[in-house]
Amino acid sequence: MTEATATESIDDEHRRIAGISSPDLLSEARRLDDADPLAHHLAAFADAPGVTAYLDGNSLGRPLRDLPEKVSAFIREDWGTRLIRSWDEQWMQLPMQLGDRIAEVALGAAAGQTVVADSTSVLLYKLMRAAVAGQPGRDEIVIEAGNFPTDRFIAAGVAQETGATLRWIEPDAVAGVAVADVAAVVSERTALVVLSHVDYRSGALADMPAITSVVHDAGALMLWDLCHSVGVVPMQLDAWGVDLAVGCTYKYLNGGPGSPAFAYLRTEHQGTLTQPIHGWWGAADIFAMGPEYAPVGGIRQLLSGTPPVMSMLAMQGMLDLIAAEGITAVRAKSVSLTDFAVRAYDELLAPLGVRLLSTRDAAHRGGHITIGHDSFQEVTKKLWGDGVIPDFRFPDGIRLGLSPLSTSHQETLRGIVAVRDALT
Ligand SMILES: *Cc1c(COP(=O)(O)O)cnc(C)c1O
Repeated sequence: MTEATATESIDDEHRRIAGISSPDLLSEARRLDDADPLAHHLAAFADAPGVTAYLDGNSLGRPLRDLPEKVSAFIREDWGTRLIRSWDEQWMQLPMQLGDRIAEVALGAAAGQTVVADSTSVLLYKLMRAAVAGQPGRDEIVIEAGNFPTDRFIAAGVAQETGATLRWIEPDAVAGVAVADVAAVVSERTALVVLSHVDYRSGALADMPAITSVVHDAGALMLWDLCHSVGVVPMQLDAWGVDLAVGCTYKYLNGGPGSPAFAYLRTEHQGTLTQPIHGWWGAADIFAMGPEYAPVGGIRQLLSGTPPVMSMLAMQGMLDLIAAEGITAVRAKSVSLTDFAVRAYDELLAPLGVRLLSTRDAAHRGGHITIGHDSFQEVTKKLWGDGVIPDFRFPDGIRLGLSPLSTSHQETLRGIVAVRDALT
């Protein structure tokens, strides 16, 4: 690791900023890193030469250092030597096994309710269609106006296909969707409510149990998008009565670009809610090759076609790391990182007119914070060129995505100092 050299350069930078930064942010970052029980995992991630601060783990998690060897062994052995026998020996069950692993490590869900398949977009379509079809006599889908585009677009497509109407929630941009926002729009017409657990822009963390309960009181089904919370924010899908959920695996689960998503369908809905893409992998007997589709009863019905086995390799190592520490410890580090980022923002960026677009209350915040300034599009270009990699969100937002197992407080400070320098 290049931590020592990078730390020296931040010392220099820090001496320069001493005038506007007190008490000492750098010693605070060092103290927090020294006390961090997860710090030893930083070395488990591959080096990225030239990158001094990677602050985009919420968009694309880093690869683990041992991944090339694992991929290579897979090609030599599981695929190269066992050939098609590996389908019977291990791959047929992988979508369900890996789903159970995600459920156990990160979702607070019992086995048999989660599969890995498709992309988040495709799974959103399957689950929304299943839910609307399963609620005859109800013709509204509730969704948040600021939700991630694919969620809104797919809800609009499902509404068009089924004759349903979209009902929009327009929440506070920083605080996110409140329980009262949901209570105000659900009714006996609501078939389904679709919300993100953590807002991809502000990082606002929704009250999953309270909102799910309000939705159920109206007789509707609740679908949570977990893309920005899985692997960083603990949850209890079973205990909180969640009906359906989807999430990405390439963000905080480090599955790599285009790794397949996961879907959760509560046991009591299996066999009742059926998804609309009737492929052979969701049929009662995959190899019957019969004339007609008959859905299998369990969670496998959410599958349609052959799963992308190679793209399911990388996330397994990350799930093992999260499992070893426990999601609660990961969340504690996440809160420490975002709290520290807010403190560094206050000292270094607020004086320059940068706005904080995330809540200061860690209990209502996920794993990233967002800051705003008119010049951030250009600033981000410059930062990427200099090996400091945050995420730009049109029109003027920079997201600091602090993946807990691969990010230190000193790295966070380096990134924020670089934003400060680019602005001055
Ligand atoms: C990242 C993300 C997606 C991405 O969907 P893909 O189908 O994987 O492209 C969808 N929804 C939310 C809320 C996201 O954060």
